[in-house]
Amino acid sequence: MTSDVEAKYDKYVILSSIKKIEPVTLVEGKGATLKDSNGKKYIDAFAGISVVNSGHGNTAIIDAAKRQMDKLVHACAYVYPLQPVADLAEKIAKLLGHGLNKTFFSNSGAESIECGLKLARKFTKKHEFVALMCSFHGRTIGTLSVTGQANRRGYGMGPYMSGVAFAPAPYCYRCPLGLKYLECDIQCAKMIQDVISYSTSNNVAGFIAEPVMGEGGIIVPPPEYFKEVKKILDANQILYVADEVQSGFCRTGKMFGYEHYGVIPDIVCMAKGIANGFPLGACTTRDEIGASFEAGDHLSTFGGNPVSCAASIANIDYMLNEHLAEKSDADGEYAMKRLNELAHKHGIIGEVRGKGLMIGVELVKDKRTKTPASQEAGKIREICREKGVLIGHGGVKSNVVRIQPPLVISREQIDTVIDVLDQSLKEVSK
Ligand code: PLP
Repeated sequence: MTSDVEAKYDKYVILSSIKKIEPVTLVEGKGATLKDSNGKKYIDAFAGISVVNSGHGNTAIIDAAKRQMDKLVHACAYVYPLQPVADLAEKIAKLLGHGLNKTFFSNSGAESIECGLKLARKFTKKHEFVALMCSFHGRTIGTLSVTGQANRRGYGMGPYMSGVAFAPAPYCYRCPLGLKYLECDIQCAKMIQDVISYSTSNNVAGFIAEPVMGEGGIIVPPPEYFKEVKKILDANQILYVADEVQSGFCRTGKMFGYEHYGVIPDIVCMAKGIANGFPLGACTTRDEIGASFEAGDHLSTFGGNPVSCAASIANIDYMLNEHLAEKSDADGEYAMKRLNELAHKHGIIGEVRGKGLMIGVELVKDKRTKTPASQEAGKIREICREKGVLIGHGGVKSNVVRIQPPLVISREQIDTVIDVLDQSLKEVSK
């Protein structure tokens, strides 16, 4: 039965025909559990697209936001100095270290990337970018210009920004160069020099990449990747802009995804998990890069909203006190071990990959040909939902099941998610 909410979505919300999104009207959440308008409970294994890392209904975060709401909801952080903005900027500087001291706050992931792109241009006085195929950086014209997926750029909205060259994705399961890790000698990283030499006018301000590629299908670059890339960037005086929008805030088993690779970015873009669902984006960089913005160069009316900033401070404290990075790491290892056992049982599982609780299960019609099982992945999401588990579904070929739950999820809930996935795989393979 279509609920009142669903009927109004169909009639009044752009691009959200209820047929295209999950037909579940969610009304309440606690930890990793969600409840719909009929009282049915679900285990949330997607966290609102990898956002609610500290769990639904987290009272420490909600109380901090309520206290700030009672004091002041808005004044504009770029007209008046506000205490929560100052405190959060200091906290982020301490969290990142390495001289990454200066933050610009916005409202979303895309805006944090836009800020990173502008800063890279302004500081280097160069204007081109190198980005990765299969990447995703947001839905504004600027962020779509550095997004390496035609299907997410959409039809009829281009042309996009010029001066962007794309390098092959570090997607080992489907190596775009047809090579095999480790024999490959990380050619995908080395090719970035070729991309600069042959596909740009040698005026590259920044290289933008997600440390773990989310929307592309939870693609995990090989361990050596970013070190190889950084050598090339340094030789060409190009800044490394890390898109931590999805991989940040304990999602991958470390506070930030780049920490897995031993390479410090010049600019770090954050959003999603930064405030556990309160809208906030942040772009942090070193003093000298931040100083390249002159008065009036950049601003956001709502950016650095004090309620979101107060929530973010409480969220980061919660993550540190509860050791959520370590928990994500251990739970991710446990979940992937169990998922790999399923891969032996189900011919449809091509690869299980991820870091921490950012996990992708790539489905294929045939393990040898790797023909994507895209429809099956969609069907599995439906069956899981009917069985009370909400998972994600994506990837460049729409054949990746995504498991990115709130990081407070219990082991028992992880087991249920995997058991339900097991049953759904069986039903789809019939
Ligand atoms: N960057 C990455 C890696 C993302 O995954 C996303 C969103 O999924 C974005 C940027 C854009 O964030 P937002 O939707 O908050 O603008």
